[in-house]
Amino acid sequence: MPEAMLELEKLNIYYGNIHALQDVSLTVNKGEMVAIIGANGAGKTTTLAAISGLIQSKSGKIRFENQDITHAPTHQIVSSGISHVPEGRQIFSSLSVAENIRLGAYQRRDQKGIQEDANWIYSLFPVLKDRRSQIAGTLSGGEQQMLAIGRSVMSNPRLLLLDEPSMGLAPLIVELIFDVINQLKERGMTILLVEQNAYQALSQADRAYVLETGRIKLSGTSSELINNEEIQKAYLGG
Ligand code: ATP
Repeated sequence: MPEAMLELEKLNIYYGNIHALQDVSLTVNKGEMVAIIGANGAGKTTTLAAISGLIQSKSGKIRFENQDITHAPTHQIVSSGISHVPEGRQIFSSLSVAENIRLGAYQRRDQKGIQEDANWIYSLFPVLKDRRSQIAGTLSGGEQQMLAIGRSVMSNPRLLLLDEPSMGLAPLIVELIFDVINQLKERGMTILLVEQNAYQALSQADRAYVLETGRIKLSGTSSELINNEEIQKAYLGG
């Protein structure tokens, strides 16, 4: 039996009159990589923001490892083991690479573990090691995405939320980043990934949910969805 790590149950979110998420229910099991795919404005970013406590829901429940976190504040959600790599990276652009990495661990006290994880991140992304003292705002888009992921991983999360990691990046860089995401998964991290690039998401994730104008329209294993004619027409250009 798969062990549910994250459960969203009939979540409803509004921005004023806009009903951005409508009865959204989904489950991420321990050890899985799950994707949410959907067009621009479907509600993908809103779903991740709700899990991180950045947006409050009007109704519905969010459970993480059997704890109700629906109304928990963000810092508590981070310390419970969830880390969010937001859309557009949002690194501290006037600080160095090394300072950004260190800040990712701001809630931790285990100096030895922090150092080991920083070394591990530098081994996953050697370019960040080479640029440790460079000001983050001067990195390329791909390097900033690597740094955003590295910084999130420094909080030692059990669940990583990734918002559009491939956005605006060249195919080779996307490949490199997903290679690292797979290594995080192999190390035991559970991953919830939001992507507009449906092909990329379905070629990496174990399962996926299709979000259309705030509702879950379909869900299944990635191979079921890749072979679904409707999905092929709507999202895979075929
Ligand atoms: P994108 O890929 O463009 O980020 P998305 O699937 O992540 O799209 P959301 O950003 O979650 O979609 O937006 C869902 C809906 O909520 C859209 O109709 C959007 O216009 C609306 N929305 C999002 N943020 C706000 C906000 N701060 N205020 C008002 N409406 C918003």
